[in-house]
Amino acid sequence: METQRLRIAMQKSGRLSQDSQALLKSCGLKINLLEQRLIAHVENMPIDILRVRDDDIPGLVMDGVVDLGIIGENVLEEEQLRRQALGQAAEVKVLKQLDFGSCRLSLAVPREMNYTGAECLAGKRIATSYPGLLQRFFDERGLPFKSVMLGGSVEVAPRAGLADAICDLVSTGATLEANGLKEVEVIYRSKAALIQAAQPLESSKQQLIDKLMPRIQGMLQARE
Ligand code: ATP
Ligand code: ZN
Repeated sequence: METQRLRIAMQKSGRLSQDSQALLKSCGLKINLLEQRLIAHVENMPIDILRVRDDDIPGLVMDGVVDLGIIGENVLEEEQLRRQALGQAAEVKVLKQLDFGSCRLSLAVPREMNYTGAECLAGKRIATSYPGLLQRFFDERGLPFKSVMLGGSVEVAPRAGLADAICDLVSTGATLEANGLKEVEVIYRSKAALIQAAQPLESSKQQLIDKLMPRIQGMLQARE
């Protein structure tokens, strides 16, 4: 299915949506996102905006289903690790790191635990939604552990007896605190990024991207 319109994927609703939308608008894209539609047409440029779950964005870009995506580096890197483990293509071009979506992926343990280093967790059960990034951290240290995959509510896993520790996204630490946990190790620092499919695009699409990039660059500089 060939289309001349540039396709950009962004998170439909969540922590990245507002900033993603604001960034595109600031580049001059007239977007009407009022309707609860999957696809929004940009009125003044040959661009369509796809609004999806953030987890779907790296794959859509890697498979060339969309041309650009705005996504947390944490989600991008996790999907790359997942695909690499399966021997699948996982390349994308990171066009620009953005100035929103800051967070860190951290290990947290019960408050009362006497944590002196990652070795303390050798052989323990660790709950996470990011098994690839967690595995990489332990592999680099040559430590064994047991991964417990949870799509959500990771922070309640230790209290529920499902895991000894967790590996989860943190921004303030309030959620950890509320669950009797303490952050002991940052394993990945993340921001949102603008990514492009690795395969070459039709020249009209590439020209449009080349026209948008300086505007994005300018916006980011002005906000510094
Ligand atoms: P979706 O319904 O799209 O799957 P989600 O619940 O997976 O949404 P959000 O909680 O909206 O995702 O987070 C999206 C991204 O925002 C994260 O992957 C991360 O890059 C970034 N982020 C920034 N701060 C935080 C935080 N404190 N907790 C979680 N994510 C954060
Ligand atoms: Zn998600």
